[in-house]
Amino acid sequence: MRPLIAGNWKMHGSLAEAASLAGAVRAGAAGAPAAELLVCPPFPYVHLVASQGGAGLAVGAQDCHAAAKGAHTGDVAAPMLKDIGATYVILGHSERRADHAESDAKVRAKAEAALAAGLIPIVCVGESEAQRLAGEAEAVVTAQLDGSLPDGFAAASGVVAYEPVWAIGTGRTPTEPDIAAIHAAIRANLVRRFGKPGETLRILYGGSVKPGNAKAILALPHVDGALVGGASLVATDFLAIAAAA
Ligand code: PGA
Repeated sequence: MRPLIAGNWKMHGSLAEAASLAGAVRAGAAGAPAAELLVCPPFPYVHLVASQGGAGLAVGAQDCHAAAKGAHTGDVAAPMLKDIGATYVILGHSERRADHAESDAKVRAKAEAALAAGLIPIVCVGESEAQRLAGEAEAVVTAQLDGSLPDGFAAASGVVAYEPVWAIGTGRTPTEPDIAAIHAAIRANLVRRFGKPGETLRILYGGSVKPGNAKAILALPHVDGALVGGASLVATDFLAIAAAA
């Protein structure tokens, strides 16, 4: 399957910076034809980036509400994101699980809203450092998958992102065998749950992916792309990661 290299810009940048970063990624996308490229700007910049024109770069958001509309001050609905040109939405990122107390049930409800709006959800899972040290990583990830993925996930080509919390923004990553082991467990979970379609759903690795480690990580079995935070803010780094796919 074609790998997906997704940039999670988090809460960074200005309107001008979003335009120029997306423009530079778009211009370089032709140099990494093996991968599908996606950027997920902050909400205020999604429309601008999506309307820049030109093929070769998909645009997503970093969250959505579980309701399609209603009295939810400050929230953004999935149909609005679809309306302004987004095709993907990241859900259940560990920063949202931590900062906004998002439970697996909440993430699942959001994923259902995304599916109903025609967006592809990228559902994030991953263990904390304490859970990793306690030997609980696989059990934690399995429970998050069971609780967070909606039934329609496979039919809509949903994406799972494995992001160990302790690897995000720290420059630390699990060992290659540890990444491979969790990705194999995620694959087994997807096949158990969804049958044959689970064999081809994309499983991304995220957490301190950089140009220097991307090739080795992306070569691991069941690693079908990357969710990139810090390095996605520098077009040349993001494109180098895409070229390694
Ligand atoms: P990082 O972030 O690449 O900066 O570690 C990844 C993420 O949080 O998606």
